[in-house]
Amino acid sequence: MKIADKFGKGRALFSLEVFPPKKDSSIDGIYKCIDEVSAYNLDYISVTFGAAGSLADTARSVELTSYIQNSGITASMHLTCIASSETDIVGITKTLRERGIDNVLALRGDLPADMSVAKHDFSYASDLAKFVSNIGGFGISGACYPEMHREASSFAEDIKHLKIKVESGVSHLVSQLFFDNEIFHNFREKLAIAGIDVPLDAGIMPVTNAAQIKKMVTMCGASIPPKLARIINKYSDNPEAMADAGISYAIDQISDLLASDVDGIHLYAMNNAGNVKRIYESIKSQL
Ligand code: FAD
Repeated sequence: MKIADKFGKGRALFSLEVFPPKKDSSIDGIYKCIDEVSAYNLDYISVTFGAAGSLADTARSVELTSYIQNSGITASMHLTCIASSETDIVGITKTLRERGIDNVLALRGDLPADMSVAKHDFSYASDLAKFVSNIGGFGISGACYPEMHREASSFAEDIKHLKIKVESGVSHLVSQLFFDNEIFHNFREKLAIAGIDVPLDAGIMPVTNAAQIKKMVTMCGASIPPKLARIINKYSDNPEAMADAGISYAIDQISDLLASDVDGIHLYAMNNAGNVKRIYESIKSQL
């Protein structure tokens, strides 16, 4: 089933993002995680894709996406295009179709440090969305940035490009993680003003590991509000307290978003079934 068709039923969707293990580690750990989270009434799970799009990484993403789909959960595979040719995308989407996967998240991917790996068939995610739309048969999701994509020259430019992405075939958006709900509320207003009215999932990452979040924030540019900064400063040397406080923070964020009638919550689950369980149990009555 296409993800966009799941919205509009008077309730918010709840979904996860997971990632395939590195190629020298076993895939069994993430399969166990999927088996555990399949109890939680998930609307879909999306699987990340290596930015460089190497064949080995692609195969792992395809395997994991297929496992999720075969577990009875709607699955979506991320596809980055900066290092992919049209032929690569035709090949991957053919495999996904054969595996019964109906959804892709069309992404450009971060610009590689070594631009010689770029294949130049696609410049932006909107080019990929248009190409996959022409292939047909897939629900196409796209990424968006409540604090603006870091390469954009202005918010207005970024939203203009987002509108092109939607007009190119994207029927559902997933936001970059954010820690301050006011930023997301303002972003929703900007999209409404721009006439972007496809369903929008709010991307939430529970902060359970101080080092990991510092790295993540550097990569994606999300700002840390003072309330969360105090938690990170106080508990960075106490993993158990950090996890408890970080999960409580994420639950508060989600409760406020659900009270504000968001279309969906997309949890950056970091392959941790235990954290998903704690969050789901606390918010399930609000979904
Ligand atoms: P685009 O939508 O193409 O935008 C990139 C930049 O180009 C923006 O600044 C935009 O304003 C600008 N732009 C867009 N269109 C035009 C145009 N027509 N003319 C001029 N400028 C334009 N990365 C991975 O490698 N693997 C993953 O699995 C992955 N999953 C992600 C999932 C989510 C939900 C999110 C939010 C990000 C994910 N990323 C992933 C990271 C993503 O690849 C990077 O943020 C990347 O830098 C931008 O990708 P995009 O698809 O948003 O790009």
